[in-house]
Amino acid sequence: MSTASPVVGVLALQGDYQKHRQMLDRVGVSSCDVRTADDFSRADRLIIPGGESTVIADLLRRFSLQETFSAYIRSRPVWGTCAGMILLAARVNDETVNPYGVIDIDVDRNGYGRQFFSDIRPGHMQLDGVDHRLDLVFIRAPRVTRVGDGVAVLLTCDGDPVLLAQNNVLVSAFHPELTDSVLLHRYFALTFAAEVTA
Ligand code: GLN
Repeated sequence: MSTASPVVGVLALQGDYQKHRQMLDRVGVSSCDVRTADDFSRADRLIIPGGESTVIADLLRRFSLQETFSAYIRSRPVWGTCAGMILLAARVNDETVNPYGVIDIDVDRNGYGRQFFSDIRPGHMQLDGVDHRLDLVFIRAPRVTRVGDGVAVLLTCDGDPVLLAQNNVLVSAFHPELTDSVLLHRYFALTFAAEVTA
């Protein structure tokens, strides 16, 4: 696998994986749906989309993908958005979800409240020395309640960390695939944790 033209996989069991594929198309990188063990081996990087963490976890189990998924997220660049973030966390305040524990954060699963309280908030992020304005879309989003020592907070919103990274793992509480900006898809596909794939 090469870092020059990565194939970015999107876990396509449930959730808004098609929106992520469309963003990756706009960035101009190759992408694929990931539903089988073979699909995992084709993907250089993986996005775990928003949706419903309990359902995605259950489908990984039903399709006997737990071990493949677990090995993948420990060794390749991965980005969990919303439900994906919940699955990658160390601890979740809801025993119906067993997170995979690859980033040292704790999350409150529906910490931003119910669907009714979904909203779009403004954010600013420095990338490559440039300040970018982002719309941050929160839909029944997880709230980060603890950040471990080795975790970098890349973006906060109203005082809460909402974009974080540790080693090969990137997580966002919000949904960048539902906005016009491809900034974070470009960052994840081409820049993030490049050394992991070297
Ligand atoms: N709160 C949802 C869950 O528990 C995640 C919502 C989302 O991905 N937009 O999975």
